[in-house]
Amino acid sequence: MLHLCLVMSLFLVGQIAWTGNLKSAIQTDATSPSDIGNKPGDELWLLPLPGVDADPAIPDSKTVLRYDWGQDISSHLQISIFLESLAQAAPDRTRLVNYGLTYEGRTLNYLVISSPENIARLDEIQANIQKLSDPRTCDQASADEIAKSNPAIVWLAYCVHGNEISPSDSALLTAWHLLADRREETQNRLKDLVVIIDPLQNPDGRDRFVNVFRETRGLFGQSNPNANEHTERWPGGRFNHYWFDMNRDWFRHSQREVRAKVAAFLDWYPQIYVDSHEMGANSNYYFSPPADPKNPYLLPTQHDWFSRMGMHQAKWFDQYGFGYVTREMFDAFYPGYGSEWPTLQGGLGILWEQASARGLVVDRDDETQLTYHDGVRHNYISGLATIEFAAANRERLLRDFYHSRLRSVELGSEGPVRHYFLLNDGPGRAAELARLLVRNGIEVRTLEEAVLAAGTNIASGTESETRIPAGSFHVPVAQGAGRLLRSLMDQNVEMDEKFLRRQLERNELGLADEIYDVTAWSLPLSFDVPCIQTGEIEVKSTVWDPVVTTGEPDFAAAKVAYLIPGSDGAMQALSWLIQKGVRTHVSDESFRINDRDYERGTLIVKVSGNGPDLEAVVREAGRKFPVSIVPVDTAYVQQGVHMGGPDVHWVKPPKVLLVVNEPTSESCGHTWHLFDEKLAYPTTRVKGEDFSRVRLADFNTVILPDGSYSANNGFGKARADELRAWVEQGGTLVTMRGGTAWAADPENGLLKNLVVKRKVELPGERKEEDKTEMVRPDNVPGAFFRTSVFQKHWVTFGYRPELDIFYSGSLIISPTGETEGRSLVSFAAKDKLLASGFCWATSQDLMAETPYAVYRGIGDGHLVSFTDDPNFRAMYPALQRLFINAVMFGAAH
Ligand SMILES: [Zn+2]
Repeated sequence: MLHLCLVMSLFLVGQIAWTGNLKSAIQTDATSPSDIGNKPGDELWLLPLPGVDADPAIPDSKTVLRYDWGQDISSHLQISIFLESLAQAAPDRTRLVNYGLTYEGRTLNYLVISSPENIARLDEIQANIQKLSDPRTCDQASADEIAKSNPAIVWLAYCVHGNEISPSDSALLTAWHLLADRREETQNRLKDLVVIIDPLQNPDGRDRFVNVFRETRGLFGQSNPNANEHTERWPGGRFNHYWFDMNRDWFRHSQREVRAKVAAFLDWYPQIYVDSHEMGANSNYYFSPPADPKNPYLLPTQHDWFSRMGMHQAKWFDQYGFGYVTREMFDAFYPGYGSEWPTLQGGLGILWEQASARGLVVDRDDETQLTYHDGVRHNYISGLATIEFAAANRERLLRDFYHSRLRSVELGSEGPVRHYFLLNDGPGRAAELARLLVRNGIEVRTLEEAVLAAGTNIASGTESETRIPAGSFHVPVAQGAGRLLRSLMDQNVEMDEKFLRRQLERNELGLADEIYDVTAWSLPLSFDVPCIQTGEIEVKSTVWDPVVTTGEPDFAAAKVAYLIPGSDGAMQALSWLIQKGVRTHVSDESFRINDRDYERGTLIVKVSGNGPDLEAVVREAGRKFPVSIVPVDTAYVQQGVHMGGPDVHWVKPPKVLLVVNEPTSESCGHTWHLFDEKLAYPTTRVKGEDFSRVRLADFNTVILPDGSYSANNGFGKARADELRAWVEQGGTLVTMRGGTAWAADPENGLLKNLVVKRKVELPGERKEEDKTEMVRPDNVPGAFFRTSVFQKHWVTFGYRPELDIFYSGSLIISPTGETEGRSLVSFAAKDKLLASGFCWATSQDLMAETPYAVYRGIGDGHLVSFTDDPNFRAMYPALQRLFINAVMFGAAH
């Protein structure tokens, strides 16, 4: 019971009182197989390095965790306890910082390690780095002074993918080495550096891995890669609680762990930021320099650093005969990676990838075995090499960090693009986007006076003279984060031509492409916020304070109704009002009342039909959400539809079933995240395998996220018939990507659109009828496409007739023209289809003028289908609104 309480307190309390008593919570003796890997004394043992003059006052793994370095896979709790033990043993050289909590309540911690003199003046060191990061206020002389006297900041971060396991235990060993090794060479490095060690960026994912590993392992380690201790359980440990890949979230900050980490990063602006990962068991070790394509906003000096650091690391690896690879894999293009975002901030983001044993030992294809211990050793050596390099280059690293930031300022004072302006019109996401930029360490300003400027609209690419009203958000490029800013805001970030040519050649030859992730991400497009970029103009603006000040909502009690124009905030308010038992209506058409126009999708909260506390509840909604609320004392409309007419519908509370686990993909987590975090609306999540046990009549909304639905996993024709019967009775079925492909399968017959295939010529001598084959279109790696939006449907409330949308994948469905149903969002004609990023010409041919989203009415119910996942990575608020409309208004219609 004592143990349980201690564990619970560690999980649940934000600010931990670090006590040595926690050590007693660990019971691991029974389960550590100590005969795995090379044994102490072996030439390759190196854990720790031979020659380390270890201070016994600094506790090692064996003392605290009861197993030797690299002999077991530590859990979040064990990692936390070990950090605490180090901090207690060396209080003059450490500072332990709890910087956040995961969704499952585990703590995020980093340990600052430096010399006693540096720790004593840590705040001053931090203030100097902050000063250095802003060349607008820090002149060259001050920068020189700081570079001469300040330690450089090296941040080593481990295990952002929870099943990439060895990095975390290497982190503990590296931290121990820095504190325990009494040799001058080690302690001197701490005079030159502040080393920040974050051993575990993804505690929830790691514990998911560790729990299954411990459940499945026995007396003998199983080295067969298919043995259950290596294979995890759905969805595996890679993702966090909501099944997000946090190594794609660095600028979007959709996950709370990433928000906390980025805030901590901006406290320190490290000159070197290492992100330590694992990859497949049959590989070796990767470190920089990175492969193509490279983000064009990285500086040549930064690429030089990557090469120099790589050479230094290679020297250490060569000394011990460790295999490695550089340059051939892992590009430096997408700013959401843990290696790119820090580099665009002016530091050096470094990626390490160690082959993973996914357990303590695994057989490799070359008939050797890889041990956990091998991984720990390699990352440990990488850490020591990095620290040695950083200490030797301390002053130059600080100078170049300043210069990288200075060149960003120059980019905005000399380059063609100098200012961005976010306009407040449109769907009302300008403030949300502005707030995100601030969280990225970017200064956002408020325009004090309107300006007339020749500028380019980011979405359309058209140039014109535009009047930018006062109150718009102004984001000048001339700031320390200017390169990051441009890379996030530009309509398109170019991939280098040589790389693209090679991909086209490979595609011609039928070889897989080397594009690792998405090819476009422009934030104004993702948010559908009108954004104007200009050259040099006179601007009067002041720094914007993003802290939301929600004053008392300014409206009087209504006699008849409260009107809430249908913004994203209104959808949050709707979710809340429904849960408060408030009956709310929505208008399918626009109307005019008291000389003001209201768009379709406006929410109407009528006084009649609601309780006496309505005014107080509505007022609270006005306080909680970014909405405008207009009371009206008459139902008499001057124009458009009447509140009492057939186009105004009661929003029947959605009762949502979301299919999760197999056969879905992480798409189900992204959708769950939207309901929990954006809408705060309850869902019932049911595993695919349990779907047959559910009474469908208990729900009015069912969501099939992306997945591989088939008769083999319980989604055969009988399931389709059952769902059709339920839809006919008034249910709303929403499908995405794989769910849509399943619905469109003629065997299932839910959707009448057909899945489009690509015709390919087959080589060799063949009969006429065998010369071609129909195959899936080439995978679109992720780009923005122009679409038109059907304006007369409740799923498209809040949308203008044209929209740039993000699409990836290979699901293309036939147009609805000849068949039953309605295209809600349709891709444009080929000549204007691609808005940003890269797409194969063959895919563009097939995609042109086909639907992205379709609607089919079946009986009293609805089927809404998307060819991709609009909730992908929570990256595209402009797409998510379609999904939100589909689930919140389906039961109402
Ligand atoms: Zn990884």
